[in-house]
Amino acid sequence: MSSHVLDQFLQENLGDLKEKGLYNVIDPLQSANGPVIKVGGNELINLSSNNYLGLATDERLKNAAKEAIDEYGVGAGAVRTINGTMELHLKLEEKLAEFKHTEAAIAYQSGFNCNMAAISAVMDKNDAILSDELNHASIIDGCRLSKAKIIRVNHSDMDDLRAKAKEAKESGLYNKIMVITDGVFSMDGDIAKLPEIVEIAEEFDLITYVDDAHGSGVLGNGAGTVKHFGLSDRVDFQIGTLSKAIGVVGGYVAGKKDLIDWLKVRSRPFLFSTSLTPGDVAACTKAIEILTSSTELQERLWENSKYLKQGLEKLGFDIGNSETPITPVIVGDEVKTQEFSKKLNEEGVYAKSIVFPTVPRGTGRVRNMPTAAHTKEMLDQALAIYEKVGKQMGIIS
Ligand code: PMP
Repeated sequence: MSSHVLDQFLQENLGDLKEKGLYNVIDPLQSANGPVIKVGGNELINLSSNNYLGLATDERLKNAAKEAIDEYGVGAGAVRTINGTMELHLKLEEKLAEFKHTEAAIAYQSGFNCNMAAISAVMDKNDAILSDELNHASIIDGCRLSKAKIIRVNHSDMDDLRAKAKEAKESGLYNKIMVITDGVFSMDGDIAKLPEIVEIAEEFDLITYVDDAHGSGVLGNGAGTVKHFGLSDRVDFQIGTLSKAIGVVGGYVAGKKDLIDWLKVRSRPFLFSTSLTPGDVAACTKAIEILTSSTELQERLWENSKYLKQGLEKLGFDIGNSETPITPVIVGDEVKTQEFSKKLNEEGVYAKSIVFPTVPRGTGRVRNMPTAAHTKEMLDQALAIYEKVGKQMGIIS
């Protein structure tokens, strides 16, 4: 018999979420996650993936994965420190360090995992972390796990960061202080003010930690936000994910050799969770090779993003202040946002609604993620559908 207390908890809370329009419905794909996807038997223009460069379905990556599977099998068989490190893993880490212009890198099973691993391997209860209020959930959880004092900083507010850094430093309460930020904020698409953050960090001797999940492969000729600002030797932790522009799965930290050596002996997902599979690792390595040899895919991504943004703006939608391909169409009310996304879907565009708790209440949006793999025709079709549904629902006039 199941627990009565649990049943009651679930019924009450699930009912409440559904009533408020906050319950996330998951639509299974019946196709690869490319520029057009099949959902519920229908082909839809896909504006919801993080597959920025189209690499998730790239033949070169698929072939690299297949070859690795043939040679090494489908699973790594153990955690990295027992015997789950293959030469393939070391090659990927070497490529990642080159890609990020750092001395070394360490790969994890996901970006989420990486933040849980890296923050708590270095920070503890005698430390403090200055964390932007819009940082990703995995950063927030990583900070909590470390038990360090978390000091929330108003979003990209450099006066607030400076004041809080000064106060923390002068209090003498903390052994180490870290400043932690997304490189690109995933829900609004704005870029962190890294030059100012690094200056403040140098003034108050802060450890710098940048999670560039949405900047890698997109900014800085592909190398990311830190490179975009020319700060590669002034940021301690450069975090990335292998699941977005790289198109596969996994996460990594790039930084100085000593830092990476420490993470290899102290970060718990590295020690206690089975390594990335050979196929994933080989595909990621191929992706980095592609990214470092040509900027063609990034250029196509930016061209498509500009085209979509200009089109949506011309139609009268509020697309916020994104500086990157992430293109929110801000609706506000949660229920209306979900209704908008549903209608877009019915007309042929898959653009997912994002509502509280992923974004603050009252700022519901449909988030569009154009990729290098979209054609102009697909984007024109999507814009025509946006116009039709936007007018029907009174979101634009
Ligand atoms: N950090 C940020 C800023 C992210 O946007 C994401 C992905 N949603 C992650 C970490 C987690 O990455 P992954 O999907 O590889 O676990």
